[in-house]
Amino acid sequence: LIRFDHVTKRFGDNTVLDNLDFTVASGKHVTLIGPSGSGKTTILRLLMTLLKPEEGTIMVDGDYLTHEEKNGKLVPAGEKHTREVRKKIGMVFQQFNLFPNMRVLRNITEAPVHVLGMSKDEAEERARGLLDLVGLGDKHDAYPTQLSGGQQQRVAIARALAMRPQVLLLDEVTSALDPELVAGVLDVLRDLAHTTDITMLCVTHEMNFARDISDDVLMFDAGRVIESGSPEKIFSEPEHERTREFLSAVL
Ligand code: ATP
Repeated sequence: LIRFDHVTKRFGDNTVLDNLDFTVASGKHVTLIGPSGSGKTTILRLLMTLLKPEEGTIMVDGDYLTHEEKNGKLVPAGEKHTREVRKKIGMVFQQFNLFPNMRVLRNITEAPVHVLGMSKDEAEERARGLLDLVGLGDKHDAYPTQLSGGQQQRVAIARALAMRPQVLLLDEVTSALDPELVAGVLDVLRDLAHTTDITMLCVTHEMNFARDISDDVLMFDAGRVIESGSPEKIFSEPEHERTREFLSAVL
């Protein structure tokens, strides 16, 4: 479903992703781990088209995200094309980024109504279902500031799901939360991973969570995948010295 082919991303002289290849198959849950600065967030930002790669191509669900085909040739993607492909992707950020002036329900219905053209009634009905799913069925009328960080993050998850994305990107979604609120958010994501067929690509420092939900774990170092495999393999029998060092520092 997601395919990075020879992707290089630089900031000035700093090569953050170096000729990177990887794929995430449909319905799989893949976790990116690795030291700070190894390029994990950059991958998610490329998928959200907040950044463009210097080289290489990115495909989502059979369509190029970075390029489009015109007269049989591959040219850099125009805005309209990018917008269409990006609709397949939902993202939840470390900072929940809810609209502060809108009640919870409207936070969730805004994009389905204005971007997907869904009727208000349908969007609201779905939003209520999603709020139930994240355990906040009674909070539809609250404003974000009336909720805890963990509750706000669960609204952000519902909001991302409201766009019916094929892929959910999760960028360190619990790292801005007080420790006692982390479990509630991870439980919601664990349920999603186990009960739906949504594809997930997560960047996380929560190794237990990564172990629980991942089909595959990719270990990054210096813009490359140095090791990948099942969580059992990566966490119990890492092959690479850098992986062992990293895990002994974080576990
Ligand atoms: P962390 O776990 O700390 O979030 P990460 O693996 O997600 O790290 P990235 O955020 O992808 O790492 O950053 C990789 C490198 O790219 C870092 O060296 C960072 O300084 C650099 N970088 C990221 N964004 C920019 C930017 N907009 N301009 C310049 N350099 C950037």
